[in-house]
Amino acid sequence: MQGSLFEDDSSINAQKESAARFRDLNDLYEQSKDCTKCRLAETRNNFVFGEGNPKTQIVVIGEAPGAEEDAQGRPFVGRSGKLLDKILEAIGFSREDVFICNIIKCRPPENRNPNLDEIQSCMPWLKIQLQLIKPKILLLLGRVAANTVLDNRQSMANLRGRILRWNGYDVIVTYHPAALLRNPNWKRHCWEDVKMLRSHYDNMC
Ligand code: URA
Repeated sequence: MQGSLFEDDSSINAQKESAARFRDLNDLYEQSKDCTKCRLAETRNNFVFGEGNPKTQIVVIGEAPGAEEDAQGRPFVGRSGKLLDKILEAIGFSREDVFICNIIKCRPPENRNPNLDEIQSCMPWLKIQLQLIKPKILLLLGRVAANTVLDNRQSMANLRGRILRWNGYDVIVTYHPAALLRNPNWKRHCWEDVKMLRSHYDNMC
């Protein structure tokens, strides 16, 4: 894949922020939590780094923290998060088995979509998280996360339901839990996607 935000080695961020600078995820957290690289630092209550198993084979990536996540400093702890917990449980995983994070670490005001410059500022943190965790599988929740990571504009219908390969990771895309809360009809597709995730994990790991 060409020109992904993750692969923009010419960017100043990519050069300055390589995983080699960090001992481990805790060190990365300590060095990133006061980030002021974009305007979201001015309005956030907490930098939502992500949480879970630092040695997991599965990283779950959402879009950006909402109000509850911003208040608690933890990813997916609001209504969407409760549904994500159930989705993971349904395939025999708990939050502690995977690592959960977002493409954007700080809440955009009014939960608006993140702007391109905010995404570009923040993506190096995700890139380094992945370099430190070294998962085999990424589960991308929703079209914003998928289009950003994969650097394309494809629809959910094109992206979900199969295993994509990107940058050394096997990637599965499914609906964002917030979208499932709005459109319960899509839960059936999500169930197919996460069953595929489980059997792929069982085969690989
Ligand atoms: N939605 C997201 O995309 N991420 C969160 O952490 C919470 C809600």
